[in-house]
Amino acid sequence: MEGATVLDFLGDLRRTHMCGALRLSDAGKKAVLMGWVNRRRDFGNLLFIDVRDRTGVTQIVFDNDSNPALHDKAGELRSEFVIAVIGTVTKRDPNTINKNIATGEVELVAEELRILNESKQPPFLPGETVLPNEEMRLKYRYIDLRRDAMQFNIELRHKIAMAIRDYLSWLGFFEIETPFMTRSTPEGARDYLVPSRVQPGCFYALPQSPQLFKQILMISGFDKYFQIVRCFRDEDLRADRQPEFTQIDLEMSYPQSERVWEVVEGFLTAAFKAAGHEIKTPFPRMSYDEAIRLYGSDKPDMRLPAMTDVRRAFEPAELEEFASKFKIRKELPIQLIRIPKAGDISGTERRTLGTYGAFQHVHGPSFVQLMSDPKRFAKDYPALAERVIQFARVEPDDLWLLAGALSRSETAAVMEQSLQTFCERCGFLRIDLAQKYAAKHGAFVKTGDPGKDYKFLWVTDFPMFEWDKDGNRWNPAHHPFTSLHEEDMAKLEANIDSVHDRKSPLGEIRALAYDVVLNGTELGSGSIRIHRQDIQRKIFQALGMSDEEARSRFGFFLEALEYGTPPHGGIALGLDRIAMILAGADSLREVIPFPKTARAVDLMVDAPTPVSDAQLRELGIGVKKE
Ligand code: ASP
Repeated sequence: MEGATVLDFLGDLRRTHMCGALRLSDAGKKAVLMGWVNRRRDFGNLLFIDVRDRTGVTQIVFDNDSNPALHDKAGELRSEFVIAVIGTVTKRDPNTINKNIATGEVELVAEELRILNESKQPPFLPGETVLPNEEMRLKYRYIDLRRDAMQFNIELRHKIAMAIRDYLSWLGFFEIETPFMTRSTPEGARDYLVPSRVQPGCFYALPQSPQLFKQILMISGFDKYFQIVRCFRDEDLRADRQPEFTQIDLEMSYPQSERVWEVVEGFLTAAFKAAGHEIKTPFPRMSYDEAIRLYGSDKPDMRLPAMTDVRRAFEPAELEEFASKFKIRKELPIQLIRIPKAGDISGTERRTLGTYGAFQHVHGPSFVQLMSDPKRFAKDYPALAERVIQFARVEPDDLWLLAGALSRSETAAVMEQSLQTFCERCGFLRIDLAQKYAAKHGAFVKTGDPGKDYKFLWVTDFPMFEWDKDGNRWNPAHHPFTSLHEEDMAKLEANIDSVHDRKSPLGEIRALAYDVVLNGTELGSGSIRIHRQDIQRKIFQALGMSDEEARSRFGFFLEALEYGTPPHGGIALGLDRIAMILAGADSLREVIPFPKTARAVDLMVDAPTPVSDAQLRELGIGVKKE
């Protein structure tokens, strides 16, 4: 069959309609459609071909009685052949109307067929509902992208990006490009490097973000910048990461944090509207400390209730007795974790509540002590249980359990047993249980009400520094150009030489840094930046970076800061993730046309690959053969 078909030229034939366009009101019109052969059904004298483009399908009829030559020609058509059909739009018989497709009330009765191209038998068919494995989909991505679902996702992504562009441009932001071949930027991941041919031994780095360029654009007077831009980070890949990904990156001059938040709320409203959802602004705000205490996470999923520290429901003597009986520390919270509507579970399930899912495996031996059987607890301590339940506003069919911090310290270094670590562990457990009982509480199911389906949140006042256990030092929690709270300046100055001191109050300094979170996922991070040289120098000093070191890494930027830098701040949000959430997809690969696998491989083009010795020689690079 292959190659046997005589192909036609397109000539000057123009398409009159897309394949998803024809309606009953078009009946009687002449139409020219072009697209792929989606499906063929052969009834002897009548041959039906569904022709498909990105907008839908139309049924074409070839009738042997009225035009045998044309019917014969159509007989050659196979899946994914590319055709042009000229015909008359005709109302279908009532009993052949197809309600599942938009064009289902009509068909095109063919008068001329041009076979524009043939196709090999594809490894899978775009019209099929059963999907091949993902490797196959990625290798033959061009076939995969022809599928309805992928066409929908990519169109949605386009609409989201356009809505954001329109909105920001309307607000006076300029979209300005920044270089891809640059030098290391400060996001703290591994760089992808590009060797220079003309300067052997020298490398460009692909930007992990346009961070320093966008700050320089503020120094350059552009006032408001944005860019929908690719970023490159060589990190260990997880399901929700790609080595190259797209950020909605922006920066503005003279903002308070709230100004940045308003802008983001505005463009997210526009983006969600483009996907058909009306969201409400302003988003709630919560400090990092509060998020950790209430949700055990800096990206709380607000679709489920917070944890409650129930110590205040105890009498002092009771707390004492309880703490010693269960070997827990009364100076740390006793967290009540509750999952709505999941109450009716078996005794065995109740007794093993703390061992679910990833909690034990991922978080290892824990110092979280669980009173995992709430029924038992209520029996042993009826009055206390009643008070605790009231205090935490537990509903009758809620599932709940109490978690305290184990006072024995063999399992973890004492240092690790901080309020934060304890709350985080409880937070993991809360999410594990939420997933385990998802069918019961139903909070993850979309209701069609955006107020319930999309729980946004600003998490603010992140710590400025975070302790790096392996490096035994404080690192910037965001990046080193992030401003701190003015009130915390004295603390910075008093502790400026304590980069290796785990107990240093550096850990208490708050940054003017914020994250926007949706349903427990971080959509983006940003901050108000340091615009003063003197403060920037202090931050580098606190990070243990000598003047020379700072100069060698960021010299160009520090110099720029000296020429009248306005106060400025910004943020970057992941476009892929937003598109994924709005598409209802469960992987970034569903919304990126040409993504990479978990091993950072592009299966379609087969990259990365070795290169020729000649290329390497030219670049002055030798590859060690292991
Ligand atoms: N450059 C930062 C990032 O990519 C975002 C920002 O601070 O604007 O995470």
